[in-house]
Amino acid sequence: MIYADVIVDISLEKLDKTFQYAIPAAWEGKIRPGMQVEVPFGNGGRKVLGYVMELSENPKIAPERIKELLGAAEGSIPIESRMIALAAWMKRRYGGTMNQALKTVIPVKKQQSKKERRTVVLRLDEIEAQKALAALTARKRHSAAKERLLEELIRYGSIPWEEITERLGIPSALIREMEKSGAVRILREREYRDPLQRIPTEERIKENSEQRAVIERVREDFKNGERRTYLLHGVTGSGKTLVYMELVEDVLARGRSAIVLIPEIALTYQTIMRFYSRFGSRVSFIHSRMSPAERFDQFERAKCGDISVMVGPRSALFTPFADLGLIVIDEEHETSYKSETVPRYHARETAIALAQMCGASVVLGSATPSVESFAAAEAGEYVLLTLPHRAKSRPLPVCETVDLRRELREGNRSILSRRLQELMEERLRSHEQIMLFLNRRGMMGFVSCRACGHVIKCPHCDVSLSLHGARTLRCHYCGFSMEQPKTCPACGSAHIGGFKAGTQKVEEIVRQRFPQARLLRMDTDSTRGKDGHRKIVEAFAGGEADILIGTQMIVKGHDFPNVTLVGILAADLSLNASDYGSAERTFQLLTQAAGRAGRGGAPGRVVIQTYHPEHYSIQAAKAQDYSAFFANEIAYRRLMDYPPAAHMLVICTTSPSREDAAAAAEQIAGILKKTEERLRLLGPTDAPIAKIQDVYKKVLYIKDKDAERLIRCKDKIEEAILHERVLQRASVWFDLDPMGLI
Ligand code: ADP
Ligand code: ZN
Ligand code: ZN
Repeated sequence: MIYADVIVDISLEKLDKTFQYAIPAAWEGKIRPGMQVEVPFGNGGRKVLGYVMELSENPKIAPERIKELLGAAEGSIPIESRMIALAAWMKRRYGGTMNQALKTVIPVKKQQSKKERRTVVLRLDEIEAQKALAALTARKRHSAAKERLLEELIRYGSIPWEEITERLGIPSALIREMEKSGAVRILREREYRDPLQRIPTEERIKENSEQRAVIERVREDFKNGERRTYLLHGVTGSGKTLVYMELVEDVLARGRSAIVLIPEIALTYQTIMRFYSRFGSRVSFIHSRMSPAERFDQFERAKCGDISVMVGPRSALFTPFADLGLIVIDEEHETSYKSETVPRYHARETAIALAQMCGASVVLGSATPSVESFAAAEAGEYVLLTLPHRAKSRPLPVCETVDLRRELREGNRSILSRRLQELMEERLRSHEQIMLFLNRRGMMGFVSCRACGHVIKCPHCDVSLSLHGARTLRCHYCGFSMEQPKTCPACGSAHIGGFKAGTQKVEEIVRQRFPQARLLRMDTDSTRGKDGHRKIVEAFAGGEADILIGTQMIVKGHDFPNVTLVGILAADLSLNASDYGSAERTFQLLTQAAGRAGRGGAPGRVVIQTYHPEHYSIQAAKAQDYSAFFANEIAYRRLMDYPPAAHMLVICTTSPSREDAAAAAEQIAGILKKTEERLRLLGPTDAPIAKIQDVYKKVLYIKDKDAERLIRCKDKIEEAILHERVLQRASVWFDLDPMGLI
């Protein structure tokens, strides 16, 4: 008799273990690990779904007491045992149940018919198409959408249907109309391997010598059977994408497949078409707006070898390729690589674990690597590769800082410094574009002095205190609190208070100062609706406005060649966010924002307005000097034992009842103090947002150099949850090495 260890598909900590079922004769030899099966469960023998973890010949209890499973769930295909191993790794490291981990790595099949994949192919040759385009343009009432589609098709030859309808925003009726007129052909899925299909070919750019050195290094290692993690540190515009594509090509030539992770916000039409042009029908994409069924379909295609490259955000990591050879993570420092639901995994760490399981290489790319990754490269865990120059030999922009304390002293109370106003006037006169960036991430109401720049910090944790209610200042890590002083403790000025500014307010001020300028604003309000974001990007790229005002949304992934001035209005907003990563994020944001200036021919200028021009993050961003930033930042992390100098585990308890959340947190603190000696425990304290939608949140932090010790603490708490009432009355979850505040 063969027995299957099955994990029952109910997300309850209590049931997070395997149950043994016997395999009935009819299913012998057909049930394999990773399959979804139907099993009778509980006293009533209710039919539930589960996953097979393992098969064995040894019954764990008396064989007559073991029930038989009912059979494989409909449409279930075994995932490789590798995915189960990966889920087990994630559960152990990040906490939560095995079920939650399995659901993260295995897309759940939902009843829904397969969507047919369609591609629109240009039927005209280039000369005919150009003629048709000219004819369209010449017409009095011409159709802008039709022109655009024709232009794009001339450029790429063929384009996936969804890219046209969703990203280019062209109605499907128009595509059909063009099909009728004979200008385009629509290819259906089964025609995909039609040899007559015109596969688009990107004009191959030849790699430069710096790029070649990087490519050669990874390629040689791969050939020699060495699998490493590489950190590709390349300045903005150094041509990292070309490096990724060459490496993917190389891996494909060896019969392996590749996953390329890109932050959601950078998954633009341009990026997608670059990969599509290069890899055609061998590549597929996933993004967060896809339904689970669509995602499932793409994973199926990967499993059966229909495609060999997957490009997408964090979750694309779980594409079930049979022979994965390479994982690329672009913009590896991005916070979106960390999951915000249990298990709260980091895609970088998980990619490295996955790569080890399947003999793949990992390439992490960034212009501003995370402190974690750079430290790992310095320690020799990752191989550091660099691209120090821009690929198109454009100079990096010229940065200057403006001291806002001085502006105030000299009588300017506006959010626009005199220097910035002067440069804006110049650009408006010469019809060049301007971006104004208000860095609002992590804005949690810190208190600072506008006369001397002094920020009130926690005496124990060296992070900014934040304002709660009218006058209380509190530390998010240790709970330290004090009353807000009425005058600055450093200089005695009464100009002390919270720093408040929103993009709408900035828009008003700019409109008053430059009434003739055409303005666009991009923030979460103005980008609501399906195409909000794209419309603003296109309007600005099309020259419909002189000034774009926005939050971090505007600094990522867009190329606006006519922008020659970037103004960063208040660098301090992210610098004083009250968590240990605030200096790092400031440096990253400033570098990225600066990288937006001068992408076209004209050189760019960047003005950084700040109360802390002397701060190393700002100095290093101004000089575009990553090593100077890193040296300062790693010293701070070591001094304070923040990651990567030590690991940090967040334990969070939540409940609709304030008392229950607090009691659970206290209980956990008690358990830890009792069982672990000399543990560095902070809290429990209220979470930064202590109550969200009527759920109360308490947090504890533990720091330790040894991640294993923190995992052991987590295991102990998870164990206690199984039998302690107080812990069961709240939800408890974990976050190892959090990014930003919980
Ligand atoms: P990054 O991602 O490193 O910021 P990109 O990959 O977007 O940079 O490349 C920046 C620009 O440089 C792109 O327009 C790209 O086509 C161009 N480029 C990349 N490599 C080369 C090269 N070897 N020769 C000429 N242009 C290149
Ligand atoms: Zn002061
Ligand atoms: Zn503190």
